[in-house]
Amino acid sequence: MSTTILHLIPFDPSHVPTNTKQQTTKALLNILFPSKEIELVITEETIFIDSGQYFTNVHCHLCGDVVKIEIWQDAMDAAYNTRFRDLTFTTPCCSRETSLNSLDYKMPSGFSRFMIIIRDLETELSIQNLQQIEKAMGCHLREIWTRY
Ligand SMILES: [Zn+2]
Repeated sequence: MSTTILHLIPFDPSHVPTNTKQQTTKALLNILFPSKEIELVITEETIFIDSGQYFTNVHCHLCGDVVKIEIWQDAMDAAYNTRFRDLTFTTPCCSRETSLNSLDYKMPSGFSRFMIIIRDLETELSIQNLQQIEKAMGCHLREIWTRY
């Protein structure tokens, strides 16, 4: 049986909201999604949150070309050796320096130390709800839908 999990992460991989902001956010989430299992998770090190079965490929966000999966995997291995502190990536297609966190993942993926996890949400997150959560968190959030 597969499950769908919505992860909400800050765009800045190292950003962890304050305790107060976390509590405000948790309280808001319990009101917005009263019957859902919700967790706020902080990890010791930066991790990569992917879309699981939704993952198809990676595109360059600068020129739109597909990044060969072997090239991306090598860059991920190198970044992993820095515990994902150094996410520098030089695009093979247009030779520009960017971050692995900025690439255009299909479906969206990203790096973070902090995440909100909402399980088995049947509907998409509305813009209004996302904005409310961002306000409580004090930062913009990336939506990562993961299917296992
Ligand atoms: Zn490119």
